[in-house]
Amino acid sequence: MAFTSNDVRISDDSKELHFNKHVDYIANHGNDKNDYEYCMTEFLRMSGIYWGVTGLDLMNELGRLDKASIIEFIKKCQCPVTGGIAACEGHDPHMLYTLSAVQILVIYDCLDAIDTELVAKYVASLQQLDGSFFGDKWGEVDTRFSFCAVAILSLIGRMDVMDVEKAVTFVMSCCNSDGGFGSKPNAESHAGLIYCCVGFLSITDQLHRLDCERLAWWLCERQLPSGGLNGRPEKLPDVCYSWWVLASLTIIGRLHWISSEKLENFILSCQDAETGGFADRTGNMPDIFHTLFGLGALSLLGDKRLKPVNPTFCMPQYVIERCNLKPKVIVL
Ligand SMILES: [Zn+2]
Repeated sequence: MAFTSNDVRISDDSKELHFNKHVDYIANHGNDKNDYEYCMTEFLRMSGIYWGVTGLDLMNELGRLDKASIIEFIKKCQCPVTGGIAACEGHDPHMLYTLSAVQILVIYDCLDAIDTELVAKYVASLQQLDGSFFGDKWGEVDTRFSFCAVAILSLIGRMDVMDVEKAVTFVMSCCNSDGGFGSKPNAESHAGLIYCCVGFLSITDQLHRLDCERLAWWLCERQLPSGGLNGRPEKLPDVCYSWWVLASLTIIGRLHWISSEKLENFILSCQDAETGGFADRTGNMPDIFHTLFGLGALSLLGDKRLKPVNPTFCMPQYVIERCNLKPKVIVL
């Protein structure tokens, strides 16, 4: 295949997973509270902790983080009035950070640290008449928030507080003729949003509504000659799309439709061999977001050094089983 301008060039030599470096990278992340990066990422601190906790658990090194202080932090981020959880103390609550907080607590098996009744009320309050969800009180609608809503409510066992049927109708109204999904009706297909919608349908047991063949074709076309996956046509490959695309393909039973070997080679080329961590692309600076999604994708590809990851929740599979949750996957 020809090398195109919207791809990267990587070597074919076999690459090692720098396991211990990644453990140190995540465990030391945010240790220096005066660190420039730490201060700049206050607005997504809660998600940052979720990425770290999940990554370390997949590597069987969860003990490297201070559980007690993380739980204390989450408690302080729950708004006592709305029930929503913020990225950081003193910020406004949002559906995205509420999901991250719930995921962390479920991994630590201590959901009772927060008021989950209030969380359920918060999520239900954001559902609109057409079935869609606002991300927060400011009223942005996006299929990402539909995913957040069902993920949060199923993790806390309160799916009963929302109108599932209407929510499904809204998500299906965002399905395009290419089989993919966008952020709202008539918005172009995008791998990240496809993951959210497929994950949503997996949790609500509605996968039969998908045009799986068409969708899988669109997802497979995301693989570039380098082996990496992009999120939309004409875009550069990026490690986080390894997760969004691969998890979606796994849920619809078509992981084998792409070249695992080439994708693995691409993901491993995005590791920083000195500091640990994964970058979005070969040679760039690593960050904790791409580190989790690199590890998650390698787990989906069957890397034996990592615990199996659940494709719908992006959490360790044993945690999902401990919750007695059975998000649907299609088995061909
Ligand atoms: Zn990315």
